[in-house]
Amino acid sequence: MVTTSFTTAKSEEIFATAQKLMPGGVSSPVRAFKSVGGQPIVFDRVKGAYIWDVDGNQYIDYVGTWGPAICGHTHPEVIGALKDALEKGTSFGAPCVLENVLAEMVVDAVPSIEMVRFVNSGTEACMAVLRLMRAFTGRQKVIKFEGCYHGHADMFLVKAGSGVATLGLPDSPGVPKSATSNTLTAPYNDLEAVKALFAENPDDIAGVILEPVVGNSGFIPPDGGFLEGLRLLTQEYGALLVFDEVMTGFRISYGGAQEKFGVTPDLTTLGKIIGGGLPVGAYGGRRDIMEMVAPSGPMYQAGTLSGNPLAMTAGIKTLELLNKAGTYDYLDKITKKLSDGLLQIAKECGHDVCGGQISAMLGLFFNPGPVHQYEDAKKSDLAKFSRFHRGMLERGIYLAPSQFEAGFTSLAHTEADIDRTLEAAREVMSRL
Ligand SMILES: *Cc1c(COP(=O)(O)O)cnc(C)c1O
Repeated sequence: MVTTSFTTAKSEEIFATAQKLMPGGVSSPVRAFKSVGGQPIVFDRVKGAYIWDVDGNQYIDYVGTWGPAICGHTHPEVIGALKDALEKGTSFGAPCVLENVLAEMVVDAVPSIEMVRFVNSGTEACMAVLRLMRAFTGRQKVIKFEGCYHGHADMFLVKAGSGVATLGLPDSPGVPKSATSNTLTAPYNDLEAVKALFAENPDDIAGVILEPVVGNSGFIPPDGGFLEGLRLLTQEYGALLVFDEVMTGFRISYGGAQEKFGVTPDLTTLGKIIGGGLPVGAYGGRRDIMEMVAPSGPMYQAGTLSGNPLAMTAGIKTLELLNKAGTYDYLDKITKKLSDGLLQIAKECGHDVCGGQISAMLGLFFNPGPVHQYEDAKKSDLAKFSRFHRGMLERGIYLAPSQFEAGFTSLAHTEADIDRTLEAAREVMSRL
């Protein structure tokens, strides 16, 4: 892989047209490469651990369509099942048995989930779960954490991570004060701050929502005792604990971060992997809470395409592929090799970095660390990250185009892919 052979003329041409047609040329902000500079590459096709762009360049992919591609892109079994499902119809708008199959798999896998409702995105799942938290407790306030992202609904656009962090948007214009006036925020991993919020508002807090392992301000694992502390505190104040496992569900382990850390929330949101690359979200939890959802209960929430047969099919196949002996051991092994390798190489090349991994999720900050919360992550050398990102891209390695995003591996990544990635990293890091 020689740098000089890297050309992206077709990508640039397509993106130039896209910018005239769509805001920023994209359908979702972080894709635009704004925080790393340069132009995004335009994809042509994906397979296994690889991407091909419209100029014919091949990349090893560590974004995996932002999480769903944990079995590798276009897995033949997923595609085969989708082809069969397609023949039977693309949307029913009526009950179908596939919903039962996926619901049962989710209930069996995720400790907190006794009943589940399918929606079409993680954003939708988080919006609905917030309404449910309020409906069930009769309280208005909710605690979220700085740098945690729960989709783009008004109530959550306060100190949100992901694209909001990447683009440095304070919050967002267009969000009325009334929508966020009941959203309280605390720094991640800061149990004392949460205690103080509860002490100030003992009867008003419906619940606490968080990413149990943060991926949307870079990769930040929970400190020992943090999740347990939140569990006790919410119980003490009659509030609900909600894990947003849209990213971590079926990635940190088959049962999500809640299984890995042994802390069971009251409610959980899911998305990404459970759609196997098609649009799906879900929220679920304790039966007595979920029975508040219409038509079983009074809390309204609906969706024309919810429980869509194609999306259910891709989700079912993806979970079947994951629920086999050794899959998570493999994911952990290759991800650890990558993470350890990157840290080692960076140190050998004299860069201050910190990072780590859990299962198939990893992160590397250009920052001496430690990073416990978004404020720490923000101290990273963003210019250096941008140069690193660009250098890797030119050597056929596709990383998320922001310091404030996690990296993802898949079952399709081989040890040879990791070796190639580390080789590229050594070349790039030695010149940063
Ligand atoms: C991606 C993500 C969301 C939003 O999901 P969309 O499908 O993009 O709407 C919400 N929460 C977390 C933790 C996420 O990573």
